[in-house]
Amino acid sequence: MDLQIIEQVDPSVLQGSVEQFLEYLGHPSIIRLQGADSSRRRMLCTLLHGNEPSGLQAVFHYLQQNLQPAVDIDIVIASVTTALTKPRFSHRMLPGMRDLNRCFRPPFNDNEGRLANSILEFIRETRPECLIDLHNTSGSGPAFAVSVLRDADHLALTSLWTNDLIVTDLRLGALMELSEQNVPTVTIECGGATDRPSLMIAREGLQRYFQNEQVLAKPDENYAVTCYRNPVRLEVRPGFQVAYTDDGYCDADITLSTDADRLNYGSLPPDEPIARLGPEGMYALQAKNHLGEDVLEQYFCNRDQKLYARHTLKLFMVTTNKSIAERDCLLYFIEGGLEQ
Ligand SMILES: [Zn+2]
Repeated sequence: MDLQIIEQVDPSVLQGSVEQFLEYLGHPSIIRLQGADSSRRRMLCTLLHGNEPSGLQAVFHYLQQNLQPAVDIDIVIASVTTALTKPRFSHRMLPGMRDLNRCFRPPFNDNEGRLANSILEFIRETRPECLIDLHNTSGSGPAFAVSVLRDADHLALTSLWTNDLIVTDLRLGALMELSEQNVPTVTIECGGATDRPSLMIAREGLQRYFQNEQVLAKPDENYAVTCYRNPVRLEVRPGFQVAYTDDGYCDADITLSTDADRLNYGSLPPDEPIARLGPEGMYALQAKNHLGEDVLEQYFCNRDQKLYARHTLKLFMVTTNKSIAERDCLLYFIEGGLEQ
């Protein structure tokens, strides 16, 4: 799958809608903008997942303003075909395909792998000073950032968008793992695709990221960012079913309420049930930490066929999307321990 390079966006397209803009792109694209200082460049990537439109909307809005960015900017708009597949903006990836944000490491031998590799090659050639990968969260919830490093540059980049940074030692083949190749990279989750604040957060962060002279760490600057280290993924084992309902009986293996994403970012005390369990109880679940160890029993228990935390936990990325819950993960959690 080829990445098309667009040096100049047709101005008439910017008079239309975001969907028309997406149709105009048609394929995975890189839009290149010339900045006031062309000795440096930054990169923004968005729409790695076809059902996460806030980044694309923010880019569209930025282009409409016809501004000159502070430095050269390259904007990658990745899963254009996925987003265009009807119903539009509803597919994270196309059926039977890999999640593009798990493909930024070999093997690169399918369509998603080749696209990821083309993006990596472009980055190696152009050597941006930093990279932001802009997403929506799977469920509803506030914005936060994710990175694999937590040095001053990563805090500075985070602070343009949000005050919460999750630092993970988990390696899944995500684009943000480029931080380990000397390109400071932060994933921004600007909130749910249908949450009202998400677009505002995406737009304002993008404006700062493109227009500020300096986005990497300044000496002696203290960034007010709270870091959370190594969240654990609570996953449903393959073959087990998740249901969302507020009615009484349901025979799924895991049943959550339809507003389970209200648990996002709150403290979950041990006396608040998370889900109802089916006949197999907790066997339907696993909780892998960054070392690959299953720590389910350490953090959760089954009381009266309901799932409870053993200690107070902080949950985030709780999804209310059945297919994400079954194929990716139900939620992430960390235990207490805030790290500044
Ligand atoms: Zn995403």
